[in-house]
Amino acid sequence: MNPSSRPVAVVTGASAGIGRAFTHALADRGHDLVLVARDTDRLEALATELRDAYGAAAEVLGADLSDPAELATVEARVADPDRPIELLVNNAGFGTVGKFVSLPLEREQQEIHLNVLALVRLTHAALLGLVVRGHGGVINVSSIAGYQPTPGNATYGATKAYVTSFTEAVHEELKGTGVKCMVLAPGFTRTEFQARAGVDSSEVPGFMWQDAPTVVQHALRAYDKGRAVCLPGPLNTATGAFTAVTPHAITRRIAGLIVTKSEK
Ligand code: NAP
Repeated sequence: MNPSSRPVAVVTGASAGIGRAFTHALADRGHDLVLVARDTDRLEALATELRDAYGAAAEVLGADLSDPAELATVEARVADPDRPIELLVNNAGFGTVGKFVSLPLEREQQEIHLNVLALVRLTHAALLGLVVRGHGGVINVSSIAGYQPTPGNATYGATKAYVTSFTEAVHEELKGTGVKCMVLAPGFTRTEFQARAGVDSSEVPGFMWQDAPTVVQHALRAYDKGRAVCLPGPLNTATGAFTAVTPHAITRRIAGLIVTKSEK
């Protein structure tokens, strides 16, 4: 059993950006944390911050989630019946930018492994215990990029379309179990994401950006209400509504223009 009485939240991609913001907000709400990412130095420093600021215990679990063996160690922790978790935030992810045919295939495959396969396996590992206990939940981080095909970002947009569809379906399946499953679909968020994808987003206007703590605040508010989907803020909500009623022939061209503009 968790020696403290604080519920445990597992956050993947905890070392930076939206994941890091989740860890602060969840520790502030009274959770202990399991911090997952590759950079264990950053996770150790974060664990100290969370302990000092909120009195939260934080376990560091270094893993490359695109590696099947390392993913298996995180699955085992998430499913461990002796150390039950209350919340899983599947947040780790990255994007690749460029024409699909010219991108290294190995990296595209890693993207699918991390953004889709790891998320699916960890969701399954978490739900097995959560459903038996009848409470808790999963938040899967998708993107507004998953709402239409994204030329110049083809694999990324497709992985996020999977995450959104998968999570909404599981949300419906879980009705009556007491367990929640919500997809969070942010738009442009100031994190390390763009730099890691090798894009210069300086031409994206300021009003289109959110900071990670704001995105997380929207997410946790929606999660508390038992929502299936959180599109954080009015701009993302409007974009989601627009893409839902507009043919892909139009939305994919708009998305392609935005991606092309931000290519280095
Ligand atoms: P970020 O600042 O680059 O953070 C990404 C996190 O994922 C880091 O903690 C990174 O840690 C971790 N990570 C990357 N590869 C990993 C791997 N193979 N195994 C384990 N952890 C890995 O990006 P972010 O913006 O916070 O992204 C978080 C999520 O939000 C992603 O799913 C992204 O698709 C989504 N999103 C972002 C935006 C945006 O504009 N920023 C918009 C929509 C959706 P290590 O390097 O230490 O492993």
